[in-house]
Amino acid sequence: MEDKLNLYNTLTKRVERFVPNVPGKVKMYTCGPTVYHFAHIGNLRSYIMEDVLEKFLRFSDYQVKRVMNITDVGHLSSDADTGEDKMLKGAKREHKTVMEIAKFYTDAFFRDCEMLNIRKPDVVEPATGCIADFIHMIKVLIEKGYAYEAGGNIYFDTSKLDEYYVLSNQDAEELAVGVREGVEEDGNKRNKTDFVLWFTKSKFEDQELKWESPWGVGYPGWHIECSAISIKHLGEQLDLHCGGIDNAFPHHTNEIAQSEAYLGHKWCNYWFHILHLNDSNGKMAKSKGEFLTVSLLLEKGYNPLVYRMFCLQSHYRKPLMFSFEALDNVAASYNKLVAKISSFLDAGVCAVEEKKLADFREAFFAALNNDLNTSSGLTVLYDVLKADVNEATKLAAIKEFDKVLSLGLLAEAAKYKEELAAKSADAAAERMDAELTAWIMKKIEERKTAKKNKDFAAADAIRKELAEKGIVLKDTREGTIWELA
Ligand code: AMP
Ligand code: ZN
Repeated sequence: MEDKLNLYNTLTKRVERFVPNVPGKVKMYTCGPTVYHFAHIGNLRSYIMEDVLEKFLRFSDYQVKRVMNITDVGHLSSDADTGEDKMLKGAKREHKTVMEIAKFYTDAFFRDCEMLNIRKPDVVEPATGCIADFIHMIKVLIEKGYAYEAGGNIYFDTSKLDEYYVLSNQDAEELAVGVREGVEEDGNKRNKTDFVLWFTKSKFEDQELKWESPWGVGYPGWHIECSAISIKHLGEQLDLHCGGIDNAFPHHTNEIAQSEAYLGHKWCNYWFHILHLNDSNGKMAKSKGEFLTVSLLLEKGYNPLVYRMFCLQSHYRKPLMFSFEALDNVAASYNKLVAKISSFLDAGVCAVEEKKLADFREAFFAALNNDLNTSSGLTVLYDVLKADVNEATKLAAIKEFDKVLSLGLLAEAAKYKEELAAKSADAAAERMDAELTAWIMKKIEERKTAKKNKDFAAADAIRKELAEKGIVLKDTREGTIWELA
């Protein structure tokens, strides 16, 4: 097969042709969530765009194996190994154990993903399940002279590398460790950029999860988990590594440092980073405490897939500004799109125009092969709807594109059609009820007149006529009333 995808690679800072190590097969790794809180819709922007990339690779006939970790230990408040363990912070907040918190928010994360049509990766691995793998990797790093012990912790020595900043191309001065103000620098580090592989001398004595290790009882640093989990499941050569742009430094930079030091060769060829979702207060972040979740969107009456479409309308390499006004506009477009598709759902009876379908497919591939330009992909979808081609062909094209876009277009259109049919059936029933009531009232009036005129035979005939239709008349002091038999 011919490789046709052009993708921006953070490593080379260029749009490049994506060529996997083994033709036709892609090994893909994704940094999973830190499960101390709900995922916010910013996190989910990253997972939506990674999902589109994975599905587009599959659509392009690659065999993809995708692995994701779950960070349930070791991620401190500052990405630079200072501050409190996020998991511990979450457990204290909710008066639960770390493992209870991890389970609750991992389940919540996958429920959110399901509502956004994000496919679950082939392998999902919690960090706490791989402690032996981390210990092995750290041992090798020490043996090779890349790691040292200081103050009871094990650190990676970044000065041992010729090129530490391969990914982020940053200035060492700019990257002062402990980036956040008010966070103490760790005096054990030989170099500012060194990072912890294994903590034994924790700043917080009450760290809940600890394991035996050759260096004492402790727990792993955050960065080691992604390197070890990736190598465990995907081997020594990784094609594609994904994450939000905030992960590029220090997390991914440290992953490259320790993986390549451990392996002794280049590790991952392509780095795919998604720019942030921002709101009027800046970057959406869990640590800010207040953030938007999928449940909140649901509560406000939005279909989560509208948020997916909101993300697809902009390019992953541009920051995206969230507002409810913008989301409302997308909701209107989404509903219109679904209504339009519902009007030709039964078009399967006529034959698909294969040549036209191939042209549509080519235009869609061209859009996504161009650095995953999802908004152009959506434009191709709209072009299909407007095209001079039979409806079976339109339907076939939409079905194919939605394997990648995953906007649930056909399912939502079918639902819309059913709702429309139910509404018109209700309206017809209401109309019938009104007509029947008017007829009964007319008959009651006729019977009243007949009785007044002492024409009891005619009055009885009316009672009988109604009875045959299951309507019973009752004469009361207030007048004649009716009910169903
Ligand atoms: P976390 O759960 O904090 O480890 O983050 C999970 C993923 O979400 C990572 O890939 C982050 O880089 C990404 N991320 C965090 N904040 C945002 C944001 N505001 N917009 C897009 N992606 C984000
Ligand atoms: Zn990671």
